[in-house]
Amino acid sequence: MSKIKMTTPLVEMDGDEMTRILWQMIKDELLSPFVELNTEYYDLGLEHRNETDDQVTVDAAEATKKYGVAVKCATITPNAARMTEYHLKEMWKSPNGTIRAMLDGTVFRAPIVVKGIEPCVKNWKKPITLARHAYGDVYKNTEMVIPGPGKVELVYTAADGTQQRELVHEFKGAGIAQGMHNLNSSIESFARSCFNYALDTQQDLWFATKDTISKKYDHTFKDIFAEIYENEYKEKFEAANITYFYTLIDDAVARVMKAEGGFIWACKNYDGDVMSDMVSSAFGSLAMMTSVLVSPQGYYEYEAAHGTVQRHYYKHLKGEETSTNSVATIFAWSGALRKRGEMDGNKELMDFADSLEAATIETIEGGKMTKDLALITSIENPTVLNSRDFILAIRKKLEEKLA
Ligand code: NAP
Ligand code: MG
Repeated sequence: MSKIKMTTPLVEMDGDEMTRILWQMIKDELLSPFVELNTEYYDLGLEHRNETDDQVTVDAAEATKKYGVAVKCATITPNAARMTEYHLKEMWKSPNGTIRAMLDGTVFRAPIVVKGIEPCVKNWKKPITLARHAYGDVYKNTEMVIPGPGKVELVYTAADGTQQRELVHEFKGAGIAQGMHNLNSSIESFARSCFNYALDTQQDLWFATKDTISKKYDHTFKDIFAEIYENEYKEKFEAANITYFYTLIDDAVARVMKAEGGFIWACKNYDGDVMSDMVSSAFGSLAMMTSVLVSPQGYYEYEAAHGTVQRHYYKHLKGEETSTNSVATIFAWSGALRKRGEMDGNKELMDFADSLEAATIETIEGGKMTKDLALITSIENPTVLNSRDFILAIRKKLEEKLA
């Protein structure tokens, strides 16, 4: 069998620890034997980020703008312990944060649905994709502890020096206060990313805020979405036979629990943080979640939703056997290859991505899985495989499919 060719490179961002080990296995066993991989490689492993003063992360994000599609391995976000462990020059920022700031995107997370790993919510039949706005609100807040009686105000000083004031509260005793913000430009790009992703995946889009209570702040989110929808997307949505639906956040939560899935749920930053953990754990496991950053310019960066699985890596280093789930990382690759194929009109590459995903799902549905899934599956007597043997079992299925 001749290998599938790629006309345009894909940006490949390598990472850290156990996921770096899986990354190489996936390339060796599931990709290189079938595809003439054409990637522009960036090593985002912490050692190399440190050597390059984190320039490699910036270069990788720039390359993503150039080529349009990237696939990223999980990476360590340094903390004090990592400073000593890796002898770091600086506590480098989170690569995801750096890349997100440069691409200005929205993160879409969707569960990988497999028979035998059933969601706890019994009526969820199709995946629910969560789209989280990744800028501002409580994540960029300013807080104050109010020690005693006094007045708290919001003050806006315009460029010409004129001021506008709003009373927050006239305190009679001790309390707390908080100021936060967002930007129209960021909300607009969030909205466009969501509308584009809905069209791309042919799914309805839900959006919710608390605009009845927050009549200026949340209402601005609602208005910006409505305006962009009317002016730029309404006709496209109607042509694609999908809908845009706005409701209050508490109503959305109630409806989600009763829904059968198969839609995108756009959330403000905090709602997205909280609700994505609820949705992902209800669907089974973080290792069964795909994650893609979509920029308003249409750049795509695929990754797994979980981290570098440090605990398993230390076992691996001691020569002990690991049973780490590689599904999310495999789906990061298949997602990126499919998108590359779509952009280049390369049907063979898109078909390969479908086959790789099908082989992965069928392996699990056939009872072969890693330990994390074996603990939650409804399949009787599953075969628990180690990290490598699970990937080899997928390869076997994939070879059957491609034969
Ligand atoms: P983690 O890597 O997500 O792992 C936490 C625990 O979840 C693991 O110990 C394991 O549980 C389970 N788990 C996660 N992924 C799994 C998989 N694929 N297969 C089987 N089990 C899995 O989080 P962490 O250990 O807290 O963080 C490690 C590093 O990852 C940190 O340095 C953090 O900065 C980084 N991180 C990176 C990203 C990213 O790049 N996107 C995201 C989050 C965290 P058991 O130990 O019980 O088996
Ligand atoms: Mg969270």
